[in-house]
Amino acid sequence: MFRQATGTIDSRHRGFFAEAGDARQVWARRHGAGGEGGVFFLADGGVTDEVRRDCAGGRLVCPMADCPDARFIARGGELRRHHFAHRVAHVKHATAAVWRHEAMSMLADWAARYRGAEVDVDEDDRAATVRIRSQRTGRQVELQVTYDRRFDAPLEALRDPSRQLLVGHARGLMLPREPCPELTGAWWCGTSRLVGELILWRGFAVAVNPEQRLVGTLLDIYAALRVGVLARSARTPHPTLCVVDKLDDCKLSEHGLTTPTAQRLIAERTRQPARTTTPPRDPQPTAAPQHTAPRPGAAGDARQAEYLRRAQDLDTEQRLALLKEMFLPPHARS
Ligand SMILES: [Zn+2]
Repeated sequence: MFRQATGTIDSRHRGFFAEAGDARQVWARRHGAGGEGGVFFLADGGVTDEVRRDCAGGRLVCPMADCPDARFIARGGELRRHHFAHRVAHVKHATAAVWRHEAMSMLADWAARYRGAEVDVDEDDRAATVRIRSQRTGRQVELQVTYDRRFDAPLEALRDPSRQLLVGHARGLMLPREPCPELTGAWWCGTSRLVGELILWRGFAVAVNPEQRLVGTLLDIYAALRVGVLARSARTPHPTLCVVDKLDDCKLSEHGLTTPTAQRLIAERTRQPARTTTPPRDPQPTAAPQHTAPRPGAAGDARQAEYLRRAQDLDTEQRLALLKEMFLPPHARS
């Protein structure tokens, strides 16, 4: 069903969500004579004689820190997405670890293209972190990526607008259901616990696909209709819409990676700072880090009014519990 439904949409949407099984590595580490680093992205169809020579000469190698033999060969051809393979077979890297590392490489490489950006990275078993600091202003923004659907985002991180948690393109996190025929580049998804929580706090969640340098914006139906991402006449069979964009069409802002769709949502909030249907102390794009509070992404006005009434005098923990009770589906409340 899933595959049949993809016949009428273009390739970037067909390929946004990870296939199950082994990750095919498409990012390599540059290994130069001077020992300089850097990464190389192998686009689909990108295996050329030069790429083969760079692999053979040890100038493009496996980037995984724990790799027992990092020598790569380039696999081209017509049938499969072009990718790298280890010259000498050994125990395969864990799929989620490959994706997480590739997502980190992609984001660090992308952020470093901004003039005056200082970028550093680190990673553990659950998440990879990319810290970007502006040399000019000293401001810092932190992007964190996880492929772990049981990842618990610390409340202080959710509340801090200069820290952005991104989800990887794994199916278990994104729960893809079917393409959205009315909108090129969009998919209908279910709502996983983590994505649901991110949408509650920020109004949207951002998903990265390092295999194709694509970025998805996950938002709920109401937000999509309200800002005009989706036409009112569109069929809405699932709770969450995922709009896919190219990474190069996204911007780095003080709030992190901002997609074209997220820009529309933020612009809408900026235009309507005094919306009566959002909870008190709604995090505005210009708000200081401490000036944040949970918001129900974009539920119906009546539910928002009810939330406002019931959230009076509750502390943050209680408000979050209430948000979950009111705005997350039962299976996602945990
Ligand atoms: Zn390796």
